[in-house]
Amino acid sequence: SRAFNFSAGPATLPEPVLLQVQRELLEWQGERASVMEVSHRGKAFIACAAKAEADLRELMGVPDDYAVLFLQGGATTVSALLAMNLARAGQTAEYLLTGHWGEKALENAKASVRTHVVASDADNAYRRIPDAAAWTRAADSAYFHYTSNETIHGVEFSSLPDVTDVPLVADFSSNFLARPVDVRRFGMIYAGAQKNIGPAGITVAVIRKDLLGRHGRELPPIFDWQNQVKNDSMFNTPPTFPWYVTGLVLQWMRDEGGVEVFARRNAEKAALLYSTIDGSGGFYRNPVDPAARSTMNVPFTLHDEALDKTFLAETEAAGLMGLKGHRALGGMRASIYNAMPLAGVQALADFMRDFAVRHG
Ligand code: PLP
Repeated sequence: SRAFNFSAGPATLPEPVLLQVQRELLEWQGERASVMEVSHRGKAFIACAAKAEADLRELMGVPDDYAVLFLQGGATTVSALLAMNLARAGQTAEYLLTGHWGEKALENAKASVRTHVVASDADNAYRRIPDAAAWTRAADSAYFHYTSNETIHGVEFSSLPDVTDVPLVADFSSNFLARPVDVRRFGMIYAGAQKNIGPAGITVAVIRKDLLGRHGRELPPIFDWQNQVKNDSMFNTPPTFPWYVTGLVLQWMRDEGGVEVFARRNAEKAALLYSTIDGSGGFYRNPVDPAARSTMNVPFTLHDEALDKTFLAETEAAGLMGLKGHRALGGMRASIYNAMPLAGVQALADFMRDFAVRHG
């Protein structure tokens, strides 16, 4: 039987989606072949891709002057390509650092733009969001990049950074469609699928169309997103299977009632887990400033590291998997994305209380 999967990504997928994939695996849409075996230029796949985009636009409220791209290469590749596509050579781009993935995005941009760090919480081990009063802004920047949810450090913006003078660009890989977002506030939003909306292998980018084509660079055509926009993300062979599964997850989200419903569920799950940690009398600890605590990734440590192995072995045995923390932080991490049911978090909370009693 399936465990509750708390992995940070690739992460748990909704069971109805997996069952639908299983039912349709051999013969899809009357094609007498699997979705993996048919042309991306065929009618059936074009319709499948268009429906995924339409559902995403509806769920997120994406305005018509924004393009929706389904790209390969993961959020990492997109973090490099966005610098080439959104900035002219030699122009500056601003980065606000609240954890590991912001650092990576910054590194990936450096070959293509002059970068400026607006603020960083690195010296504080990434436990809070730097106060806007202490930011240093750059003049004439092409965009302002931040990570909406830091998957490793468990730091999430509960509201958008107050940036309106330059295009706001955000990595939403680990909290995409986890709560309503006003797309109009952004120049670009991107997210690898493998946490909240699908399997690994596809990355969604929502980009204000007028920002494309200003870079003035000679880019290899495959790296120039104008070509992806013109070709409906099919400038080359797209990752058809992850695209199809992502489409099923988006349909499932619509069936469940949309992003607001998930936002309520996510808040409830996170509250349950943090109250279990905070109410443990110091047996469990989460180091993040309560105002910046992630509703998606909850890192925590046990009061005695020597118990880590036992905790992991016992959780596995209890059907709670994927709780080992990232190697950079140690301890544990529970990822509680959209597809994690409240019952899973309840089972984890019950286990944690019981474990603390037995080992406290
Ligand atoms: N950004 C964030 C917030 C992430 O959590 C991750 C992966 O965990 C990445 C970027 C990198 O994504 P990918 O492995 O798809 O390149």
